[in-house]
Amino acid sequence: MCEACPTLLDKLIRAGLLIETGVDGLYGRSGEFERIVDGFDRLVSRLGQGDGAEVVRFPPGMNRALFEKSGYLKSFPQLAGTVHAFSGDDRRHAALVAHLEAGEDWSGDQKMTDVVLTPAACYPLYPTVARRGPLPADGLVFDLNSYCFRHEPSREPTRMQMFRMREYVRIGAPDQVVAFRAMWLERGKKMIETLRLPCHVDLANDPFFGRAGRVMASSQRDLGLKFELLVPVNSDENPTACLSFNYHQEHFGALWGIRTASGETAHTACVGFGMERVTIALLKHHGLDIAAWPREVRDALAL
Ligand code: ATP
Ligand code: ZN
Repeated sequence: MCEACPTLLDKLIRAGLLIETGVDGLYGRSGEFERIVDGFDRLVSRLGQGDGAEVVRFPPGMNRALFEKSGYLKSFPQLAGTVHAFSGDDRRHAALVAHLEAGEDWSGDQKMTDVVLTPAACYPLYPTVARRGPLPADGLVFDLNSYCFRHEPSREPTRMQMFRMREYVRIGAPDQVVAFRAMWLERGKKMIETLRLPCHVDLANDPFFGRAGRVMASSQRDLGLKFELLVPVNSDENPTACLSFNYHQEHFGALWGIRTASGETAHTACVGFGMERVTIALLKHHGLDIAAWPREVRDALAL
């Protein structure tokens, strides 16, 4: 930590809002930090309450077989986190302990389990919905919230390895799904303005891996499939995506076999809220002391 020129991360840690673990992007959160997260969570619920969303909560680990089928490893192999466990006998256990004590690599007998870490809150949802059979005529809306893992260690406090993503997911006919995303683009912008944060919405792309990834990213942009609501947090030049609005067309519907009531392949869209990113944006712009925040911001969050 630099005493003379503390970064935003240094300030959050010094104030006790984030708690260091020794790993970049992996932090504990204080009660005050969680109070803001909870306030924002309530605000999101309030805005979405008229939409008839079904609440579903998955654990932060998902079925590896479904993850493999999802295509995540084709697009983002660099971000994925898999869960391994010891698979040896007594003799191999003794070897493990010996390696550990010698400070050597002890991973030889670690085998992949059936669990991977959830990379985005909506990934476990699609196969679940597909199993239910055809959608009702109005399609469906889901309300999700999950800790997510992405292997992207960083000293920017807004880029964590483990963070929470709240999502609303719309599954249905193309017009239903497109209208849902358009509605949330409006709502999301108004919501962040109510919180008195500077923001703008921009076209975006996902961080697809490698050379093939560049093609995927530019086609995603050309088709206008991803928008982000950006707030300057770490710097003015590189504002941070705090909300994202994704239209997957029939990608997940076709992959998992989700059908509309009339038998067509369903389209999907999701709006994602970065719970820690919004919290850190609020702390950056309104200060580290919640009691000193503007009245209207505290009212919006019921703080
Ligand atoms: P970025 O482009 O900054 O990597 P993203 O656009 O890939 O983020 P999404 O995949 O759209 O992010 O995830 C949905 C939301 O989750 C984002 O809008 C953001 O608020 C939040 N989020 C994504 N990655 C992180 C992270 N590493 N740490 C904290 N929040 C994150
Ligand atoms: Zn999603």
